[in-house]
Order: sequence, then structure tokens, then C-alpha cells
Amino acid sequence: MNINTNYLKLNNNYLFSVIEQKINAHKAANPERTIISLGVGDVTLPLAPVVTEALHRAVTEMESSATFRGYGNEQGYLFLREAVCGYYSKKGVELHPDEIFINDGAGSDLGNILDIFFDKNTALIPTPVYPAYVDINTMAGNDIAYMDGNIKNNFLPMPDKNLHADIIYLCSPNNPTGAVYTKKQLKTWVEYALENDAVIIFDSAYESFVQDNELPTSIYQIDRAKECVIEICSLSKTAGFTGTRCGYTVVPQELIRGGESLNKLWLRNRATKTNGISYIIQRGAEAVFTEEGLKQVQENIKYYLNNAKHITETLKKLNIWHTGGENAPYVWFKCPMPSWDFFDYLLEKTDIIGIPGAGFGENGNGFFRLSAFGKSEDVRIAMERIARCKI
Ligand code: PLP
Repeated sequence: MNINTNYLKLNNNYLFSVIEQKINAHKAANPERTIISLGVGDVTLPLAPVVTEALHRAVTEMESSATFRGYGNEQGYLFLREAVCGYYSKKGVELHPDEIFINDGAGSDLGNILDIFFDKNTALIPTPVYPAYVDINTMAGNDIAYMDGNIKNNFLPMPDKNLHADIIYLCSPNNPTGAVYTKKQLKTWVEYALENDAVIIFDSAYESFVQDNELPTSIYQIDRAKECVIEICSLSKTAGFTGTRCGYTVVPQELIRGGESLNKLWLRNRATKTNGISYIIQRGAEAVFTEEGLKQVQENIKYYLNNAKHITETLKKLNIWHTGGENAPYVWFKCPMPSWDFFDYLLEKTDIIGIPGAGFGENGNGFFRLSAFGKSEDVRIAMERIARCKI
């Protein structure tokens, strides 16, 4: 038998396990100190009331044979796919429920979607970015080309006309930099993808954090994007679903490659590889898209963005170059040494945990990510410590 030897090419040092080891060593050496984590991008606020009410109602339905549900549609219940279409409609994007696939969060579909593309494609991946894109393409045996994000391009790399790519990853708002592509920039990407017969995988996991009305929250707001983009989104950060697990993937009917509909291929994939997401969870997700649901989740988003503001104001006072935090829950700043050294330095001096930029790719080295998902009291104390230590 043959194992997938591509797995042997993966970097064994998974970012978050290295960080955990360092934290444990620090705790053991300094048991009296209080660590504040502004590291991992997990939410801290509970689910919105409108969501938990819907979840409770759905559980009650499961108690009676008249309303009990067994297997659902692999693509997701129509009520939720219609609710997602309604959400897109508010953004000026018209989608059909057949184009929506309910997922258990963006993570799974970002990995699984590669099933419908043959190996040996060239994936174009920004650096720095969410590290999973590199790992899943390595597992799939694809060639990887990198595009540089840096201070000069505001961490928003644009296409190089001399480079061919088959699958392009765009993450906007970006994790870890918080940078958001403008409509004009996304138009250039759509043109490039169409010219190269490429498919863009657009990760919009943080779209709901965009506050600037001029910035796009879906790439389908760009003309002809439906011919070249699969958009993958999640309720993890939008509505605190990191533990509840639900999101959606959009595969438009116009997306044809090799003469085949990618929507049909993905439907075939889902019908074989999943029996869908729990009915109860989908009822909770549906509640997010109601008028009251959107209002309640925006209140939580404002809370996180307020934390981000506190962080950026502190960095500004210290004259530290930084970006992000206005339309994203991450603040990205330049540190005065290689980013893993800075991680150790910050932990030792302030007992604060952030994420070394190097963990997001080569171009992240020398930078650092702070997450705004913490409790505001913790952020306040952390910023006092940072200001005092004058990093
Ligand atoms: N995409 C990006 C850019 C992320 O930052 C994350 C998680 O942090 C994910 C996708 C995966 O999130 P989930 O699987 O919880 O939807």
C-alpha cells in the first residue's frame, strides 16, 4: 500500500502547539504571574440570545416524533440556504439556494474543496496568511507559489502577470494582518483569474467585521466574479460559532472549468462525503441572519473592534508601525526583532501572549499579531503593561 507521502513534507511545528509549550514553560517558571492571552483567534463572548433561543426550540422539536428530524440534505436545509441568499441580497449579490453549501465552518471546506481539483495544480498563496492554505495544498501535492505581502503593498499582494496560477487564495479581511482588498483590487484579481482560467478561493471568514461601506464584504460584489470564484465563509467569528460549528460555501452555477460545472462536482462530493450539519445547529445559524440576529452579532463585533481600537491607540502612542483592527479583529505590528524572539521577550516582560508573524509565512517575520477577541478588561490591562514596558 502507498501512504500519502505529501504529509511528510508538512512542517511538524504546528504554530499553536509550539506556543502552548512556551506558555507552559513560562507558567512553570513563574507560577505567581498572570498571563493575558491576546493570541489565539477564538471568540470570548457567548452566542447571541436570538441564536440560543432558536437552538432551544430546535432541541424541543427533536423531542416529539411529529417534529423530529433524521438525515437532512447534504447541501444544508433549504431554510438556511435561503437565509444565506437573503444575507447576500442585502450586499447586492443575487445567489440561488442551489449555489450555497452549508458547512461545519470554513476550515473543513477550505481543505475538502481541493478534492474537485486534480493534483499538480499551482496554488498561489499570500504570505503572510492563515497557515492552513499551505498545509492543505502540501497534503494535496500541489505546487505552491507565494505572493508577497509587505508594508509597501499594505499586505495586499496583487497579481503578477508573468506568473501563472490555477488556484488562488485570497483572504479578505486578512488573517493575520487585518488588511482588506478594495473593490478595484478585487476587480484586478478577477480579471487575472479569468485570463489564467484559474479559480479563486475567497476566504471571507471575517467579512462581518468590515465597517467601511466602501470596502467589499463579498468578492461577488465584483463583476464576473461568479465565473471564477468559490467563496468560503463561516459563522465562527461572525456569530461566535467557533464551538458550535457552521458556515457556508458558495459555488456559483456560472463557474465552469474543463467544460464541467464545479457546482455539480462539489454537490457530488458532498453527497458522498458528508451527511450534512445537525438540524439543531442549522436552526441556530438561521437565527443569525434574521434582522434581530444580525443586530445582536454586530453588537459583539463592535465590542471586539473596540478592543482592537484600544490596542491600535496604544501602539500609536508608542510610535510602533501597525495596521489592521479597523475592519478586522486583528492588529498587526512591526516588532523590533525576529518575531519568535519578540514572543519570548513580550511574554517575559509583560506576561502577554500574541502570535509571532513568522507563524503565518516568511513575510510575517519581524511582525506580530494581537487578537481583539479577548475580554475588554484583559485588553485594558494588557495595554497598560505594554505601555509601561515601552516595547
Ligand atoms: N479562515 C480563516 C482566515 C481563519 O482565520 C479561520 C480560523 O481562524 C478559518 C478560516 C477557520 O475557521 P472555522 O473553521 O472555525 O470556520
